[in-house]
Amino acid sequence: MGFRTHVSEGVERTLVGAIGDKTAFSADHILRLEGVLEIVPIRRPYKLVSREAHQTDTVVRVGKLEIGGTNKPHVMAGPCSVESREQLMETAEAVKGAGATILRGGAFKPRTSPYAFQGLGEVALKLLAEAREKLDMPIITEVMDSEDVPLVSHYADILQIGARNMQNFTLLKKVARTGKAIMLKRGPSATIEEFLLAAEYILSEGNRDVMLCERGLRGVEQTYTRNTLDISAVPVIKRESHLPVIVDPSHGTGKWFLVSPMAKAGIVAGADGLMIEVHPRPAEALSDGPQALLPATFERLMIELRAINAALEAASASTAPVTA
Ligand code: PEP
Ligand code: MN
Repeated sequence: MGFRTHVSEGVERTLVGAIGDKTAFSADHILRLEGVLEIVPIRRPYKLVSREAHQTDTVVRVGKLEIGGTNKPHVMAGPCSVESREQLMETAEAVKGAGATILRGGAFKPRTSPYAFQGLGEVALKLLAEAREKLDMPIITEVMDSEDVPLVSHYADILQIGARNMQNFTLLKKVARTGKAIMLKRGPSATIEEFLLAAEYILSEGNRDVMLCERGLRGVEQTYTRNTLDISAVPVIKRESHLPVIVDPSHGTGKWFLVSPMAKAGIVAGADGLMIEVHPRPAEALSDGPQALLPATFERLMIELRAINAALEAASASTAPVTA
């Protein structure tokens, strides 16, 4: 009938998602086929991203890691920008030692001012790759421009689409086709529906390895916080979609002393992971120094997160699921 199909195998039933022109669909014909139980229209505009299309949590596999679908959140940590080999290695070793499983570092930086540090580009990508080999940690870095997709995807394990590019649909389609895992950040003024529809662009290109990152919105507050972190978006998105949700309390608040409280809030709200900026000397950072955690503060946060997680796991093992 000219539809694109998407098979999702569950424990009890297999779902075949069909995307195409509704008028060309012959329900009678499909219902006569053996094994067909029912035809259910997907009401959400984001078809492949929605839980209606795929009931179980999607697990994004990156190397040996599994993100989503478990009670074990992953923490991606590292500097805002890769500034030098020394700075990156020092930070990478510290975050790995504290329990982070993925290394972050910006190579191409989306800065508000054209005069601010723009990132070291390929030099930074090479340093990230070096850190990955040395520490056996996958790396995540932002790709800002369609032109750079081949270069960045050559080095990165996870491609980050920055908040400013959430609706750069050309870029979304291009990163999708690399087949790499993608972390899509929510735009600072994007609704949840716009966010999920942006993710739909990636899934509709055949790439299901997508993580959704809440990183704060432009709200009424501009003095005490850089952005307003929408923690309620976490359970909303987990209900609407099967994709893993990551919380970024660094960009979400802009202040180092708000990072740990909001990281904990994100995990309690159900996030599958966190992204946190760490710098050994925040005062010298070339970008986002005010929101960077010192390695020691990061380590303390990781200890608290493990305790919170153990408590949540114990509680969920001993109680029935909540339905109302
Ligand atoms: C970043 O992660 O360094 C970044 C620039 O984030 P955002 O796109 O959320 O501003
Ligand atoms: Mn940053």
